[in-house]
Amino acid sequence: MLFIKNAQTYTPESIGRKDILLAGNQVLAIEDSISEHHLLPGTKVIDASHHLLVPGFVDSLVHITGGGGEGGFHTRTPAMDLSDATTAGITTLVGALGTDSTTRSLPDLLAKARALSHEGITCYCHTGSYQVPVTTITGSVKDDIILINEFIGVGEIAIADHRSSMPSAAELGRIAAEARVGGMLSGKKGIVSIHMGDSTDYLSLLETIIAQSDIPRTQFYPTHMNRNLGLFDAGKQWANSGGYIDLTTSTTEMDLARGEPPCSKALAELLDDNIAIEQITFSSDGHASLPIFDDNHDLVALKVGLEESLYREVRLAVTDHGVDLATALKVITQNPAKVLGLSHKGHISTEHDADMVLLRDDDLAIDTVIARGQVMVEQAKPVIKGTFE
Ligand code: ZN
Repeated sequence: MLFIKNAQTYTPESIGRKDILLAGNQVLAIEDSISEHHLLPGTKVIDASHHLLVPGFVDSLVHITGGGGEGGFHTRTPAMDLSDATTAGITTLVGALGTDSTTRSLPDLLAKARALSHEGITCYCHTGSYQVPVTTITGSVKDDIILINEFIGVGEIAIADHRSSMPSAAELGRIAAEARVGGMLSGKKGIVSIHMGDSTDYLSLLETIIAQSDIPRTQFYPTHMNRNLGLFDAGKQWANSGGYIDLTTSTTEMDLARGEPPCSKALAELLDDNIAIEQITFSSDGHASLPIFDDNHDLVALKVGLEESLYREVRLAVTDHGVDLATALKVITQNPAKVLGLSHKGHISTEHDADMVLLRDDDLAIDTVIARGQVMVEQAKPVIKGTFE
C-alpha cells in the first residue's frame, strides 16, 4: 500500500490538497484528510506537501522496438528501455511500427509490449505499419484487434508522404472499417493512427473517406500535425469539425528552423483560436528516427525521438506560453486515453488505475512516478529498471 499525503492534486482538473491511498493498482480513497492511524503496517508514506500530483502520462505513439532505417541499416534506431518511459512520467504507451515492416515485425512489437507491461508500465500496440496493404499477425486488421489483447488499433499508416504507399480512399476506408468493427467486437476503439507527411494534400484523403462513407471522423487519429504550418492550419479545420489532432513533441532544431511550431507554442495558439482542448493530444514519437531530408527528399541527417519531450512541451506550454496546468495536462492524460478508448487511464479517481506523477511545486519537474501502484521513479531516478538496464 502507498499513502500520498497532502498533495495539490490535479485529476487533471485541480481539486485542491488531498490525501490518497493506493493498494496495488487500485485507488482506494481520495480525501481531504485520511488518518495515518488507519494505515496497515508497512504502508509506504510519501509526504507530497511540496508536490503536485497529476495523472500518469499517456503516450499514444512510441516506436518501442526502434524505428527508422531510412538511411540504410546502420540508421535503424535502437529499442526503448523501461526507464526511457518512466523517467519521462509515461505510465501508458502505444507501440507501433513505422516505415520499416520488413526488418521490423509485429510479433517482435507484441513481445516488446508484453515485456514493458511485465516490467511495470501499461503497453498497447497498433497492428500494421506505414504500408498498405497492411501487415498483420492473423491476416486481417479486424482479427488482430479482436484476438490480440494488446492491439487496440492500426497504424501509423502513412499518407501525404513520399514514404507512404499512396493508398486510395477505398483502400484506407476499408482498413478503417475493419479496425472499427474489430474494435466494436472486442470493446476497443479500433483507432486508425495516421502518419501525416509533408505533402500539401494534407488531410484531403481522410476528408474524401468521411464524405463517401459512414466512418466517423473520430475513427482517424492523424499525428505529426505540427510538422509544418500548412498542415497545422489544416488541422485547425479538422479539429473544428470534431476530429482529433495529435502533435509530435520530438522535434529537431532543423525542424524548428524549417517552420515546425513546437508543441508548447502550438497548444497556446490552438487555444487562442478557440480549438476545443478535447480535440488536442501530444505524443512523443519516441525512438523514431527523425530523418532530415533536403528539398529533393534525400536524407541529410538523422536523430532519435525522445520520450522525455512529451512532458517537456507540456511544461513549456505552462511556463513559457501561459497555458494553465490543468488544461495543458489534458493533452497527455485524459485526452489520449479517451481517443484510444482506454477508460481506466489518464485520470486520478477511484475508478482509474493507480498511475500518477508527482511534480515539484517550484519548477514543475518530474520527481516521482507511480505505475499501477508501484513507485518506478523517485527523486527523478529510476528505482525499478528494465530487465537489461
Ligand atoms: Zn510517423
